[in-house]
Formats: sequence, C-alpha cells, structure tokens
Amino acid sequence: MSKPSDLAGGTKPRPSAAIIADLKHRLAEIYDLNAASSVLTWDEATYMPAGGAAARGRQVAILRRLAHERLTDPALGRLLDRLEQSAGNLSADDANLLRVTRRDFEKAIRVPAEYVARANAHASASYNAWCRARPANDFAAIVPFLEKTLELSREYASFFAPFDHIAAPMIDDADEGVTTATIRLIFTELRHALVPMVRAISEQPSAADAWLDRPFDEEAQLGFGLKIAAQMGYDLERGRLDKTRHPFCTKFASGDVRITTRVRENDIRDALFSTLHEAGHAMYEQGVNAAYEGTPLGSGVSSGVHESQSRLWENVVARSRPFWEHYYPTLQQLFADQLGAVPLDMFYRAINKVEPSLIRTDADEVTYNLHIMLRFDLEVGLLEGRLRVVDLPEAWRAGMEADLGIAPPDDRDGCLQDVHWYAGNIGGAFQSYTIGNILSAQFFAAATKAHPEIPTEIANGQFGTLHSWLTDNLYGPGRALKPDEIVARSTGSPMTMAPYLAYLRKKYGELYQLPAS
Ligand code: ZN
Repeated sequence: MSKPSDLAGGTKPRPSAAIIADLKHRLAEIYDLNAASSVLTWDEATYMPAGGAAARGRQVAILRRLAHERLTDPALGRLLDRLEQSAGNLSADDANLLRVTRRDFEKAIRVPAEYVARANAHASASYNAWCRARPANDFAAIVPFLEKTLELSREYASFFAPFDHIAAPMIDDADEGVTTATIRLIFTELRHALVPMVRAISEQPSAADAWLDRPFDEEAQLGFGLKIAAQMGYDLERGRLDKTRHPFCTKFASGDVRITTRVRENDIRDALFSTLHEAGHAMYEQGVNAAYEGTPLGSGVSSGVHESQSRLWENVVARSRPFWEHYYPTLQQLFADQLGAVPLDMFYRAINKVEPSLIRTDADEVTYNLHIMLRFDLEVGLLEGRLRVVDLPEAWRAGMEADLGIAPPDDRDGCLQDVHWYAGNIGGAFQSYTIGNILSAQFFAAATKAHPEIPTEIANGQFGTLHSWLTDNLYGPGRALKPDEIVARSTGSPMTMAPYLAYLRKKYGELYQLPAS
C-alpha cells in the first residue's frame, strides 16, 4: 500500500517534504496524547480501584483537552493550507494524509471549545443520573437530562449547517459518506425482510438451551476464547485479554491492541462470543499498514466497517457449523461434564437460537437489527421534533410490539437499557451496528468468491486465507481509502443488502425449516 516517504529516499526533498514532516510530527503528538488517555481509560475499566475514579476523570480530561487543542491549532490549519497549494506534488499516501487530516481538523474547529466543555460536563452528569435511574426504573428522573441532551445534540448539528438532515452530522462522524436517507432506505428493506422471518421462527418450537445453564470454569472459558482468537489471527505479541464489565477493544499503538471480555459462569456463550467479537475489532487495528502509525490514517475507517469485522468473526465465522465441526470436540473435552453428552447439532442450535427478546445486547442475529432500527427511528423522531422526550417510553413499547411482538414491562428493560443517549449525543451511534451486520456478509461473500476454499479451511480451524484477504482489502488501507471505496473495491459493489439477506435466509432457513423465499 504505502510508498516510501519523500524524506526517506535521499533524493532532494521537495518543498512540501518539510511541511509533511512538520505535520506528521504534530499528528504523532496528538496520536500519543489520545493513546495515553486510552491507556488510562483501559486501566479504569480493568484494574483501577474504585477510589481512583475522581483523579482518573481529571487525568483523562486534561489529556483529551491537550489533544483537542493541538488538533485545532491554527498553525496546523496553515500547514494543511500550504500542502493543499502544492497538492499535485504529493505522494498518494501524503495526499490521503492531507485529505483525512483536513476532515478531522474541519470537524474539530467547527465545534467551539466552550461547547465541548459544556457538553462533556452534561454528559457526565447525565451518565451519573442514568446509573441511578435505570436500576430504579425511574424514567421521569432522567427526562430533564435527556431533554438537555436533545438540545445539545441539535446544537452540535447546527455547527455543521447546512446539512441534509439534522442527524447527518452525527452519522457522518461515525460513518463517513452514509446519509440519513440511505439508512432509512436500507432499514425499510431490512425490516420488510426480517419481521416476517422473526414471525415464522417464533411459530417454531424454540431451541432448547437450558442444559447450557451450568457452571463453566472461568479460566477455562477465557483460555478457550483467547486460543481461538489467536488462531484466527489476533497477534498476542501485540495484544492481550483482560476482564471488564462491558467488553471493548482499545489501541495504544499498532504493537499494542488490547481486548476485554466478561464472563458469565453459567453461560459459556457470553465470554466466548464477546472475546471473538472484540478480537475481530483488534485484528482490524493490528492489520492497518504499520507505516500509518501515529497519523490519522492509522486506524479503522468507520464505525460501520469496524463493526463488520467484529460481526464477521463473531457471527459469520464463529457461529457457523463448519467452525464448530472443528472446535466442538475440543470444547467437549474441556468441559466434559457439561458438554460430553451434548451432540454438536444441539450445541449449534443453542448458539444460534432466535427469540424475540427485550435487551439489544442479548439479541440473536435475526432480531438484533430490529432493536437497532427502533432506536434509529426514535432518535430521528426526537431530533426532528416529531417525538417528545416524555413520550419515549410509550413509543418504545409500541415499536417493540410492532416489530418483535413483545413489549417491555418497564423502562429499565425498555428505553433506559442502552447507555448511548445518556452519555453522549442523541443520533449517530446506532446505525453502525446494522451497517456492520450488512457489510459482514458482503465482505465474507466477496472473500469466499475470491477463495472458494475458505469454508473448508474454517472447518479445519484454518483462517489464514480469510485473514489475508481481509488484511489486503480492508485492514491494510486504514483510513487511506474512504469507507465506500473500501466496500466497492473489495466487494465490487456499494453496500448492498443481498448477501446479508441471503446469509440469514440460508442459515436460519435450515435451522428453522423456513419456506424458501
Ligand atoms: Zn463491536
């Protein structure tokens, strides 16, 4: 991917070479400030004693402020201006660096520092209020916070006016190039396909999985998941696994990309699939061209494409039958008491059990997107002013009833369940999950078309061909290509629903003997 840098060749440097060097120096400092605050938040989520919380909050805030100040430094803007004047002389990588840094710079300078401070203070107050309101099932207590968040979200959007839709600036932050209209279109198509599928599955006898409700040794669970992650391609010389409440992946450098997971003693699925999900994110970050380290090019390209990698490894690969044909005997040996007498087929059905449920994070592959679409519709309604904050619980229940045929008995398992609206903006956070699901199947189909041996390799516990294809097409470029360019170049078409629907229909059609559609 990368060409040698202008400075390394020993030829006479062009005037822009010095500017590029200055720019990269500044960007590396911003990268390191951000990485240092990531180390602190990783520690906070894994090992920090509770007593460290107040000091840690200050320490993270100062590092983030310094990084933001450097990113919005007018001197940085002047370097970008000068490079743009001589853009014709730049190497492809430097031109990409200029484009991506310009995007980040323009986004950062449009938002006044005063707003950032105000919004951060509110987000942390709102998060604290939510931590009390959710267990107490007290939506009324959070209403004033959420109303203020809605105001702040609209104000945030206003910094990017004119826009096509008020949600557009938030969506563009996460998924560059994706419009509100595109999402509405694909969500309509997806809902149309999924709702009847969920109904048809609900009429079938549900897959028995009560036999899974037995204690599984924690260390053995963690070790099994990590061993598979490593075999998939997660490089443990440049990574590690720790326990946390909410699993995540974090990157401090290309040589240090960490994941966390959580363990439920009585449900082996939680730790295993959380580990593999985060390992998918981590393999993406580890696979970015090392030459981009320390610059804005050196990370995953968008939330949706990132999520496609966690979903590809977690769902498309690790919830597939060929995968378990290889790994199930090992798992049975490891947990002989619990699984020794359970046939592969029964296990495979249990890890792919479809059932309308109240909680998004526990949802299966088929119903998951319906949870996302509900949230997307509601946040767009709030932003457009069609839905009032006080009416959110009722709108939530109605949406759940319409799409999933069940409604939460209370707000704790309804509109209070996800942290997103209570600790950040309203808008822009949920669509990436479904984009990720759609793209996971599209990428996998393209990889398998290029290398038809991939499913057989997976059935042998081999992932090299798939991992290489992903590295060449998705991981390596980092942000040097735009998300839609990555999708189009690697799959031959823009984001499309067909491979995802074909994947769901085939897999769940077989599992639940659905009529072909
Ligand atoms: Zn994820």
